[in-house]
This record gives sequence, C-alpha cells and structure tokens, in this order.
Amino acid sequence: MPRPVLATIDQQALQHNLTIVRKTAPNSRVWSVVKANAYGHGLTRVWKSLEQTDGFAVLNMEEAILLRDLGWQKPILLLEGFFHTADLTLIDRYRLTTSVHSNWQIKALEEAHLCSPVNIYLKVNSGINRLGFSPEQAYTMYQKLHSLPSVGDITLMSHLADAENPKGLIEPLQRIERAGKALAIPRSLSNSACTLWHPEAHYNWVRPGIILYGASPSGDWKNIANTGLKPVMTLVSEIIGNQQLAPGDGVGYGYRYRAQHAQRIGVVACGYADGYPRHAPNGTPVCIDGVRTQVIGAISMDMMTVDLTPCPHARIGSKVELWGTQVKIDEVAKAAGTVGYELMCALAPRVPVTLI
Ligand SMILES: *Cc1c(COP(=O)(O)O)cnc(C)c1O
Repeated sequence: MPRPVLATIDQQALQHNLTIVRKTAPNSRVWSVVKANAYGHGLTRVWKSLEQTDGFAVLNMEEAILLRDLGWQKPILLLEGFFHTADLTLIDRYRLTTSVHSNWQIKALEEAHLCSPVNIYLKVNSGINRLGFSPEQAYTMYQKLHSLPSVGDITLMSHLADAENPKGLIEPLQRIERAGKALAIPRSLSNSACTLWHPEAHYNWVRPGIILYGASPSGDWKNIANTGLKPVMTLVSEIIGNQQLAPGDGVGYGYRYRAQHAQRIGVVACGYADGYPRHAPNGTPVCIDGVRTQVIGAISMDMMTVDLTPCPHARIGSKVELWGTQVKIDEVAKAAGTVGYELMCALAPRVPVTLI
C-alpha cells in the first residue's frame, strides 16, 4: 500500500470550467493554457477533458510534441515562441503556431526553408516589459513577417501585467490600439483574469490558464466564488498519529507552536516534499473528515501537524483534505504567502495521482 497522500484530478470539473470560459467569452476562440505540465495536473492526464477547446497553448516543444503524439490535431501555440533557430524544423513538422517577440526570430524565419508557412503570434509589449516589440515597432515587424514565404497567418498578441485590477487594462489597451491600429489582423490578449473581468478585451482568442483548473487569478478565491468554477485538483491524506499536549508543550521543528492548554493534535502524512508549502504558518486551514481546522507547528518534509480540537472524533486513518473543494488552494496559498499557481505546479512527483 502506498503512503496515504494522494492527489485527485476531477475530469468533470475541467470540462465544466471550460464551458464556463466559453460562456464568459462567447465570441472568442479559446487557447487552453496547459504549460507547466498543465499547471501540475499532468498534460497527458488532462488534455482529453479539454478536447472541446480550440487550441492548446504550451511553453516548450516537448509539451507540443507530446500533444501531437497523444493525437491532438488542432492548433498548438508556443507562448514564448522558439528558443533556438533549429526549433523551426519541429515547428514546421508538428504544425505549431509560434509567438515571435524578437528580431532574431524574424531573421530565423527569413532564412528558413519550411514545408508550409508557419502561423505567427506577433508579441507586443503592453507594459509588462518582459517579451515583445514596442507598439511603435509592431507595424514594421508585421510588414517584415508578412513578406516572408515561411510565414502564414499573423495574430497580434500581448500579455497583461495587472488584469486582476479594474484599472489594469487602461494603459495596456492604449498600447495595443497603438500597435494594431493599422493592422486588420486578429488579436489575443486575455489571460484568466482578463477573461473573467474585462470582456471588452476578449478579442479573437482568449488564453485562460488558472481558471480552467478552478483557482483564482487574483489569489483570492472569493473573487471567483460566484463564477461556478470548480477546483480540479484535490490533495488528500490521512492522520497517521496523534499526541495529547499539556499546556506549554511544543510541536515540531523549532517548537513553532506551543500549546496554551491541554490539546489533542494529529500528524498528517504530507509535507513539503509532497508539494505542501513549507511556509504555511500556524492557522493555515485544513479539513478533517469534513471539519475545518488548522495547521500548527512547522511543516516538515514528510509530515505536518494539525489541531484536533474542533474534531474530537478524528483518529488514525481520518481523511484530511489539504486543498480541494472544502479548503480552497487559494486559501492555503494566501496563508503561505504565495499563489495557487505555484502550489499546483509544485505538486511533487512522489504524490500518486488519480483521475476521477
Ligand atoms: C501563462 C499564460 C497565460 C495564462 O495565464 P493565467 O493567468 O493562468 O490565465 C496566458 N498567456 C500567456 C502568454 C501566458 O504565459
């Protein structure tokens, strides 16, 4: 028998979340973002549940090729484009759409001899100052690309720095308008936050990631509480030990917690080597047999300790939800000073995963 820690991936929740995206952006096509191994959920495991999407957006060639090998025939977008000139051979062979954000990539396309033209996402810097051409350069870059035999359809693309902020689109939209005003080409801008909260910027293709997995792009699950989005990943384990504390007793490394009064605590088979955040402080919520309680004491590599005061019936073997439908991953992330994105992506390979 394996250790009790287990992650489940809810296929219906994934399908359902995609339908929510469709309803939210009814006039746009959808790139389902499955980079980082589908945000830690496992690309091989989840792609079928998302097959109603119009395309998959990935980070690297390995993910793109995996999708083709699995049988996906529709569009695949390389969000950051290609990293080496030689990658163009694979882009051509696997019929990938690639973003282009730098001059050297245009040069590489100019010199390439491809079997068929490659579709391009021309990336413009809308203010985030990571990848992309300035709005002023966009027209020239478009002209260059458009003149190349190796280039097919061109879409104007940008990525947002602050779409969870109600005013976060004012400047980016001005920059996109500047970049695209002389270009009658499709546009793609929206990440999850923009898909949910800025319908005016949905354009032709939206690119949701985190909301497909049922977590909040703002880091606060209350912001998505009325969207109908459902958590996809649940991390569960069991109580494997318990202790009766007397007032003044310490718990775990560094005695980070000290009992104020007599108290029963449980030891849960889950630690930071499973992907639970080591920074989770005392008070981080967990759920035991359906009753909410909290972390007390430092998270160790393979175990953590929880307060059993609210759950007097808890015993060895009791089920513990670390995150999922009862305790939202955003709650745990917030307590630990991070975001749901990081926790999902950090699910450790040693945790067995079951599709439900
Ligand atoms: C990761 C990513 C997305 C999806 O972001 P979410 O916040 O998860 O929706 C969209 N576009 C680009 C370019 C990305 O890198």
